[in-house]
Amino acid sequence: MLIDTHCHFDFDAFESDRAQLLAAAAAHGVTRLINPAIDLETGARALRLAAHYDGIYATAGFHPNSTADYTPSLLAEIEAQAAQPKIVAIGEIGLDYHWDKSPKAQQWRAFEDQLALAARLGLPVIIHNREASEDVLSILSAWQPSLTPEQRERIGVLHSFSAPPEIAERALALGFYLGFTGPITYKKADDLREVAARVPLDRLLIETDAPFLTPQQHRGARNTPAYVRYVAERLAALHNIPYVEMATLTTRNAERLFNLPAE
Ligand SMILES: [Zn+2]
Repeated sequence: MLIDTHCHFDFDAFESDRAQLLAAAAAHGVTRLINPAIDLETGARALRLAAHYDGIYATAGFHPNSTADYTPSLLAEIEAQAAQPKIVAIGEIGLDYHWDKSPKAQQWRAFEDQLALAARLGLPVIIHNREASEDVLSILSAWQPSLTPEQRERIGVLHSFSAPPEIAERALALGFYLGFTGPITYKKADDLREVAARVPLDRLLIETDAPFLTPQQHRGARNTPAYVRYVAERLAALHNIPYVEMATLTTRNAERLFNLPAE
């Protein structure tokens, strides 16, 4: 059984056919998904879906692109969401220097505040990094020593990993998992596949980031949770192990990191 560890299932793209998509995903072995928040509103939506569907889990946090109006007073609202059942992480949080949606100083403040909150609550973090690898890693490196040994075992994931190998090595050294998405199936993604092939098997996660980043097999169409199997297939081939083994171990990894019930 597979877990899509990053799917924006609350987005409008899925408004008309969520139940059918979950059934289709289950038919391909994808029985659970984590719906990350990008702000308070999407966090509330993810919580409603988690309350309605057994296999859906939620997170709380401000995506860097949602931090233009961030103030520390909003942290209490994140904390209130994080106290709800089925919240499994603080995220997605991080830095995004590609889109000019929020000044860097704002992004940094929100990122550091939410990391401190995650440490206080004992929750793992889901990290978004777009063209900001050096700053993300330096912030994470400064934060990691504040964690207890138990928290370091479940520190978090660099989601939709797409950075150079030395960034992967530094993240792995801090204890992070690396999440891979549709782009590892793209024709021109040899560099990314090389990174993915070298990640230890106990630190790999599979994600769709749906409705975005559709795998090569359906490129051009909306991404859906069922397609996370293409990511698992590609990772299995890269690591020279059977698909079923990759499915099992990435599921165990997700259960361990996000403290999900074992299947
Ligand atoms: Zn995302």
